[in-house]
Amino acid sequence: MRFHIITLFPNSFDSYINESILARAQKEKIISFNFYNPRETVTPTEAQKEKELPYLRIDEKPYGGGPGMVMQALPVVKSVERALKKIAQYKKTKTKIIFFTPQGVSFDTSYAKNLAQKYTDIILICGRYEGIDARIKKIIKMEEVSIGNYVLTGGELPAMIIADCVSRQLEGVLGNFDSREEEREASHDVYTRPEILEYKGKKYRVPKILLSGDHKKINEWREKH
Ligand code: SAH
Repeated sequence: MRFHIITLFPNSFDSYINESILARAQKEKIISFNFYNPRETVTPTEAQKEKELPYLRIDEKPYGGGPGMVMQALPVVKSVERALKKIAQYKKTKTKIIFFTPQGVSFDTSYAKNLAQKYTDIILICGRYEGIDARIKKIIKMEEVSIGNYVLTGGELPAMIIADCVSRQLEGVLGNFDSREEEREASHDVYTRPEILEYKGKKYRVPKILLSGDHKKINEWREKH
């Protein structure tokens, strides 16, 4: 699975995707991340070059007034084109394009499962500020997705959430494929060492049944919890 992320802030992904399970999955080439920064699609004018601006604006005030700034459509469209060009280098690809907005369809595990099973490449478009010029929806065929009923400052966390959730649906990513909750009968409370945990003079014990070795009883207990 190749994740192609369109973002103004690619560095914000570094620490999360390069730790633990996602880091290993990249090393084992089960997943990969590619970043496309809309800012890089903008060519500076001579005047801008002279001033050596640190980076070029791709956000502008909204037409009709209102708070905040809006990302321009074209730099994002060009970034998607770059991602599609990259994908065209591979054989037998199936690409899904996702556009993050708080108004989109709700993301959940079955959505992630479907992505993991049907696609080789996922393009994730992260908005910032007040979002992206809506004309992008007319130019690019994509699905609008929300990760929940709250508003974030950008689509970067949603992209990490989708990449994380989709990755654990791919075979080989989790040490034990059955670790996926949705494969179990129910998600239950879990315990590990020590058997008796002492904290501020109180003892907290692991439920006895889990130490019994009686798998039938353990499964019954797990279904209840
Ligand atoms: N006023 C804007 C809010 C933009 S929030 C609106 O109502 O659309 C800035 C960006 O963060 C959005 O463009 C989107 O890419 C991302 N974002 C914020 N909350 C999100 C959520 N719950 N799910 C998915 N993306 C979200």
